[in-house]
Amino acid sequence: MRTREKSAPQVELLILGDLVLPSRVLRDAWLAVRDGHIYDLGTSRPPQPKRVLDFRGHVVLPGFIDVHLHGLEYGDPASAEGIVRMLEAAPRHGVTGIVPTLASATHEQYLRFFDDARLATAGSIGGARLLGVHAEGPYINPRMARGMDPAYLRSPNPDEDSQLLEHGSGVLKIMTLSPELPGAARLVRALTSSGVTASIGHSAATRPQVRAAVETGASQVCHWPNALPKPDLEPDLPDTAAFCLEFPELALELILDLVHVPVERIRLALEKAGVERVLAVTDAMRGAGLRPARPAETGRLPVFKMTDGRAYSVDPKRGCRLVDTGVLVGSAITLLEAFRNLVTALDLSLPQAAQICSTNPARQLRLDDRLGKLAPGHFADLTVLDRDLNLVATFVGGQQTGGPEPEQAHNRRV
Ligand SMILES: [Zn+2]
Repeated sequence: MRTREKSAPQVELLILGDLVLPSRVLRDAWLAVRDGHIYDLGTSRPPQPKRVLDFRGHVVLPGFIDVHLHGLEYGDPASAEGIVRMLEAAPRHGVTGIVPTLASATHEQYLRFFDDARLATAGSIGGARLLGVHAEGPYINPRMARGMDPAYLRSPNPDEDSQLLEHGSGVLKIMTLSPELPGAARLVRALTSSGVTASIGHSAATRPQVRAAVETGASQVCHWPNALPKPDLEPDLPDTAAFCLEFPELALELILDLVHVPVERIRLALEKAGVERVLAVTDAMRGAGLRPARPAETGRLPVFKMTDGRAYSVDPKRGCRLVDTGVLVGSAITLLEAFRNLVTALDLSLPQAAQICSTNPARQLRLDDRLGKLAPGHFADLTVLDRDLNLVATFVGGQQTGGPEPEQAHNRRV
């Protein structure tokens, strides 16, 4: 914490509560916000604020960051307007930064997706930060398509993928690909040197292929172990999920709805890889985060259409499933539920769960110098929860957005 002189500038906002720091919870503390950033925090005498928000008895966390989601409430990445809807919905779920994700799309749709993301950034008023976009595909092993439409999947080719990279410059932050495809090593190198995170996914890579991908710069695994071979059901395919665990350079996305990955498997990942290598994602679809149907409507699940036209039903308990085949295509949770699952079903501490839902995603986006932690100099992107982990308030850049209005205590002495 920095030492303040008597002439310290007045801060805009002082937030009181229990602060979830990287290694501990600082009880009965304050956090000062100035110019949208965390100015300082502590338990001793705070700076003089213009405004105080009293969240004593609640926990203040770094805002959640979702790097893999295909929709939220009524928003999806099919248009700039859909992305804006996702941005506006996110804070209602404690999420302060998102990376909208497109899968099963044509080359032209990916190009338009990048343009739409730029338009959405310009057109968004309030809401979460758009931290970039995630291209899940198209360079995916068709054998590992799982929920994706195989018609869109292919091997990298230099003309096409360099156009994707150029057009995505500044907005494309993560690309998921299968490293066993011909041309993948060249693409991973190109992605890495452009500052795009190369993520191994929908893959049946062998151990040497995973190693080669790591050596050329891959640093993430897409929704581990989903869409990787299942050794018991696919004994002819390599155990890519196990190989990915072996490389400390690889961070693992985990869909934490407790449907995609059973609790015991999440425990195994946490044990083998460690908390620092795990990042929570939702892989959520449009329809996620909507309030459950009224009792009169139960039994009838809401049905939405994917960007490729296929219909799926949204079930908060069982996830999003294709109507015709029942195949699981995404989750129906938000990161707030993922966070709760980490604390209640996995028995993680609040700092550990915050690391998985905020710190590690920020690091994977190379934004850890300004996001993902309660630390002076970082953006004041905050999620406030009560003791039962219900959302109380969300702040993006020190501005409260989404969530119920807290009690305000103007110019109160603390
Ligand atoms: Zn996905």
